[in-house]
Amino acid sequence: MKFDPASNIQDLKQFGEFGDVNPSVTDSATYTFMEATTMAETFEGKQEGCFLYSRHWNPSNKYLAEALAAMEGTESGWVTASGMGAITTTILQLCNSGDHIVSSMTTYGGTFAFLHNYLKKFNIEVSFVDITNIESVKSAVRPNTRLIYTESMTNPLLQISDIPSLAKIADDNNIKLVVDNTFTPMIIAPAKLGAHIVVSSLTKFINGKNDCVAGAICADKEFIDSIIDVNTGSAMILGPILDSFRSSAILKNLHTLHLRMKQHSYNAMLLAKKFRELNLKVIYPGLNNHPQHELFKKLMIQEYGFGGMIAVDFGTAEKAGKLMNRMQMEGVGYLAVSLGYFKTLFSNSGRSTSSEVPEEIQKDMGLSEGLVRLSIGLDNDIERTYEMILRCMKELKIV
Ligand code: PLP
Repeated sequence: MKFDPASNIQDLKQFGEFGDVNPSVTDSATYTFMEATTMAETFEGKQEGCFLYSRHWNPSNKYLAEALAAMEGTESGWVTASGMGAITTTILQLCNSGDHIVSSMTTYGGTFAFLHNYLKKFNIEVSFVDITNIESVKSAVRPNTRLIYTESMTNPLLQISDIPSLAKIADDNNIKLVVDNTFTPMIIAPAKLGAHIVVSSLTKFINGKNDCVAGAICADKEFIDSIIDVNTGSAMILGPILDSFRSSAILKNLHTLHLRMKQHSYNAMLLAKKFRELNLKVIYPGLNNHPQHELFKKLMIQEYGFGGMIAVDFGTAEKAGKLMNRMQMEGVGYLAVSLGYFKTLFSNSGRSTSSEVPEEIQKDMGLSEGLVRLSIGLDNDIERTYEMILRCMKELKIV
């Protein structure tokens, strides 16, 4: 049967305490028990359905986590206070001092900083590879490698990870494949393609409102149970807990994600085609000149399209800056980092969300200083938006 993340969410029956159509919001940090023995068993992880303390689990977070697990097709899930909370919790759970990670060279700048700078503190080494080159991934794996890390669609170069091939390398070496699915919720289901753990920033498309920061980890029950173990769980011990009021709000937004993804993709596809007609250096996985276009077609759930992200190389940071200023004035959208918002957002990646990546590594990965990453909004009339962008480009003599 076809895997349909939207129907999986729709089929959930989650109610509030009095039959409310939205689950009740947990407003407590702690929970009473009728019996001291039940409390002890809950601490030992032997009692299903009991809550002991909201840093461990709370009903609101559990509803959202269950909905996200249904969307990703995993057994279980856990929600965090940020996407970075999900990524760091996962990696710190999987690795010990002396271990090794193979990671895509192109990842979100914060992830890169964690892998490249922060993990040194724990004597965890990371080899950065071109994730589109499967042979280079294979040869980077060592006896002490614990995981392969990638993004389903990389930030900001929009490369597509060949998840089934990466999963095979992970399985052959008895290690985990961790995939960040922030750019492609619903479009790609990494766990269905073989990934062992899926991490996401909910801050982006999934919530879609730009009113909070949140994250999620979706995986099998064994892994989720391990991160909330009271003695050894990185989530339980480090405490990147999402507030239950935010969970409740994000859950409601999740129910419109399928519609939003289709519109983001429709709008981005139209703009990408128009940009190509103007002979701009545009990167969009929906265009047939994208190096992983055919691969993406094989991996994607077609009806959600090729995603809402476009990257365009304007050559220099100065040119990129002038255009972004002009587009903001014209009303195209906002000069801002982040993505997945109902309005179009644009930023110069090398000077913002990838600024943590040293310049020589930016060059190695092919990140030009003039690269503008656009997160295309839900505009009702995208042709009108295109006309605005065209006016800006003409004024600046870019086209
Ligand atoms: N993963 C990706 C691909 C991102 O783009 C970001 C943020 O931009 C993150 C993770 C981090 O998410 P958060 O800002 O929610 O911590």
